[in-house]
This record gives sequence, C-alpha cells and structure tokens, in this order.
Amino acid sequence: MPASCSPGIDWWPGLPVVKRTAGFRRFRMINLDSGVKKQMVAEKIKNFIGLFSWSLILIIMLILLRPLPSWAQTKILENTVYQADNLVVSLFPKLPLQGQAVIVSISCRQASPVPRQLVLLGKKFKIVAVDEGEYKAVCAVPLNAPLGSQQLGIDLADATVVEIPLTILAGNYGEEHLHLPAEMVNPTKVAHLMQIKNDRIRLRQIYGSSKAVIRFSQPFIRPLKSTIITPFGRRRFLNETPKSPHGGIDLRGKTGTPVPAAAGGKVAFSGKLYYSGNAVIIDHGLDVFSLYLHLDTLSVAEGDQVNQGQVIGKLGSTGRVTGPHLHWGIKINGIFVDPLEFINESRLLLQPVGEE
Ligand SMILES: [Zn+2]
Repeated sequence: MPASCSPGIDWWPGLPVVKRTAGFRRFRMINLDSGVKKQMVAEKIKNFIGLFSWSLILIIMLILLRPLPSWAQTKILENTVYQADNLVVSLFPKLPLQGQAVIVSISCRQASPVPRQLVLLGKKFKIVAVDEGEYKAVCAVPLNAPLGSQQLGIDLADATVVEIPLTILAGNYGEEHLHLPAEMVNPTKVAHLMQIKNDRIRLRQIYGSSKAVIRFSQPFIRPLKSTIITPFGRRRFLNETPKSPHGGIDLRGKTGTPVPAAAGGKVAFSGKLYYSGNAVIIDHGLDVFSLYLHLDTLSVAEGDQVNQGQVIGKLGSTGRVTGPHLHWGIKINGIFVDPLEFINESRLLLQPVGEE
C-alpha cells in the first residue's frame, strides 16, 4: 500500500485505484477500461458470496448451539411409526428413558397374522385387541436396562417376528442416603424373615394374575397433589448399604388423608406387607399395577372393582418409613416405571389406534 495514500482514496490489493465520494460510502471508479471493470464486478460478487456463505454457516451454528425450543423437544417425543409388510406400528415415546413405559399401537391389514405378544429385553408383554385389526400394548424399560439400540419384537400368530428398533436413553435419577433402624434394613428375626418370604410369594401370585384387558377408562391421575418428597428412580443407600432404586414417588401428607385410586381397576391386594406396611395394589389390566404403600388404614378388599378417585385407604406411616407419606408406584410386568410419566402415557392406551 502506498505510504502517500491520501484521505478519501482507498487502495485494494490487486485492484485499480478507486475514489470515494466525500461524505458517502460510495465508490466511483476512475479511468478504468471495461475489462478491469468486469474483473472488479466479478471480484465483488465473489466477495459477497464468500461473506454470504460465512454468515449462513454462522447462523446455522447459532441455531444448532442454542437450546431446543419447546416444539422441537415435543417432536422428539412424538410417535414413531414403522411399517412392516401388513403392520403399522407406532411407539410412544420415541426415545424412552430407563424406567419409562412405552405405549405400542399396532394396526394390521387383513392379510397380516395376528400379533400375539411383544418382547423387549427378554421380557414378554401382553397385547390387547381394541378394535378390528387394531391392538395396544404397554412395555416397560427397566431402570437398569442396557442403553442404546435395542429391538422390540412383535411375535405374530404365524410364528414370525417383526423387529422394531428402539433406542433407550439413560435415566439420571440421582441418589439418596437414608438411616433407619438396623432390623428394618437387614432383618434377622425369624418372624420377620418368614413374613418377607411370604410377602414375596404372595406378590408374585398377584403380579402374575393380570389379564390382556384394559380395566380403566380414564387416563391415570396423581392420587395426591402434594409435594414429592422422594422422586422416582433414586438409587438408595440405607445405612450406607446400596438397595434397589426408589420404585415410585413419595408424596407428602398427614396421617389420615384419604388416598384415591389413580385409575379404575380391580383390587389385587389389600393387606399388610413387611416393608410396605398397609398396602393396596390395583390391577389395571395388561400387567399394569398401581401401588399405594405405608397406608394407615385400608378401605377396600381384594377383588373389589374401584373407580378412578375412589378412596382406597388413608395415608399413614406403616412399614419401612421415616414418617407419614404416600408411596405411589406403577409396576408394569414386574418393572417399576416413572408414575408421573405414565400419567401422560396412559392416555394413549385409551385412544383409537392412529389418533395418538
Ligand atoms: Zn417410597
């Protein structure tokens, strides 16, 4: 660049001298032949394209780096629809977390063999026909399920299997440390050990008794609106010994508070358990059970049909607890799932296939 470059004169490397009109950022070319003018125009276009490309890359990067807007997050949870031969299968949510239920809707053309059961991570799940050629099922992803790509199998009546890819994401639920009387954490008394063994046998019978029907007609509700003292899935250390993760939510409440059923169903258990205290377990069909633990008193008997909102007992502090609260849980085919998520998902079990 020439050192004598005077104010008002710009000099661009490789380009002829141009004169800037005083007071305006406009450039006027002087003494240039048409070839040079064309070269300058081409250079300007090239510069403009370069600048435009960089701006575009910058805008795209900004869009990618900023948090997803709510509509984008909802998109991730939308149903995934798979078509295989004569089957249309939709899953909700698309990317389930460990400790979450997955609602499966299946629509079959007439030529398709009837779907019999689902298989996820070696567990078999019931299927219910909700209309002609339309089926529903609910699977559960265990809290300790392997992460990443898995297969959801649909066993058909002709002994063939349709496999659907399902990606499982990590559920990060945190951990908590509790201190309780030693006998409650690791019982040693014979009477207690006998009761625990009997409870286990009884509960196995109960959880094995569900049928391929949907026993509720309204989506699940949270039984109490009160504060959650302990959320679902927390890894627990009782007296610093690692125990099973928290299989439900603990809801705050005073002893004697009426506890309503989260959805309609049949009372599968109403009685006393060593760890759970006075408990009610409702069978909602399709291996879906809701649990109400540590109750003070029980208001229903085994075999009773209950409606949503019907009082099944009073809140209390029986069993292995540190104070009064309601432990509310959802167990699907032996697997605890996040009950709050299931409230939202249960709605899809009731909607016609294709309208979720
Ligand atoms: Zn609890």
